[in-house]
Amino acid sequence: MTKQNTIITKLLINEKVLHSPLTKRIQSKLPSVETIVFQENDMKKTLQTNDGPTTLLLTNLKGQPIIMCPGTTKYHCCNYRILNIGHNCTFNCTYCILQDYLKTKSLSVFTDIPEYMQKNIIEKNISAESLYRIGTGEFTDSLIIDDITELSSDLVNFFRDYPNVLLEFKTKSLNIDTLLKLKPASNIIVAWSVNSSLISNIIESDSPSLDERLEAAKIIAKHGYDVAIHFDPMILYENYFDDYQVTIQKIYKAIPKEKIRWISIGTLRFTKGLKSTFLKKSPLFIDEFILADDQKFRYLRFRREKAYKEMVKEIRNHNPNQFIYLCMESATVWKNVFGFNFKDNEEFENWFNEKVFTHL
Ligand code: SF4
Repeated sequence: MTKQNTIITKLLINEKVLHSPLTKRIQSKLPSVETIVFQENDMKKTLQTNDGPTTLLLTNLKGQPIIMCPGTTKYHCCNYRILNIGHNCTFNCTYCILQDYLKTKSLSVFTDIPEYMQKNIIEKNISAESLYRIGTGEFTDSLIIDDITELSSDLVNFFRDYPNVLLEFKTKSLNIDTLLKLKPASNIIVAWSVNSSLISNIIESDSPSLDERLEAAKIIAKHGYDVAIHFDPMILYENYFDDYQVTIQKIYKAIPKEKIRWISIGTLRFTKGLKSTFLKKSPLFIDEFILADDQKFRYLRFRREKAYKEMVKEIRNHNPNQFIYLCMESATVWKNVFGFNFKDNEEFENWFNEKVFTHL
């Protein structure tokens, strides 16, 4: 499999985390990289002066380690939770809204996260009586610099003792070496965001290709982890389904169907604030969009429903029992695609958990 080595040319370290074990581990992997240690008050200035896609900022987490997925209002959301391990991603997918929200290019890692686990802070957020799906790939790619941080080893070894938690690493990367050194656990899911080859090659061109991602998923599944697949965002360009059908066929050729714990589908959507810039990003985005109730622009509902029905049908051709969910979709769309919907997000979450906590 192709190796993916993260290029870091500058290390910025907040003095507050200078002595944290994870900071030390990262420094040991980057012995010859220019390193700047700064005081908390100088963070903004230091970052402005040294910002760049090969700059890595090590700092402490501000705020809660586990938060609810930002998701949306008025539409169905599955109450996914986010473990905040860092910010930013250098894959620069053209549709990615991170670039619009995070006004910096540098990657950042909160190197005090492992301490949150030791200090039982994580336990304050998760009660033994409940089930949780927690992911680390919302504000960054979960594994984009795991070849340097090896943070996945801390997380897997911590959460393997919490079967009531499904921990998901969501990635486009090929950085699976650390995970391959560990004993898999049935509550640890490694997920890839995928798309049609056309979109992967044009819109996601800085990230590993679709075939490379599926090769990595195949190796991870063979090693014993369950995987998940995210078609998000699906882009409804002309004859889109011919290409997505090929992607689905490639997935089931690469990964045994019983190893795919869930598949999510979400069509392209973007916030009102991004409209003026978003459609100029690629001719593939040019289409008819409607401003939905949650103030996000979406494709017209009938087109979304058609796309979801096509995808569900094709996926079920490969595995009639495949668990599939729609991300941030309306109750009407759920009803028209699956024949049911949910009275609230809690009902969605409980239905979801019933389907995926198969290891309990
Ligand atoms: S449906 Fe999607 S956006 Fe909503 S909580 Fe779940 S993962 Fe997050």
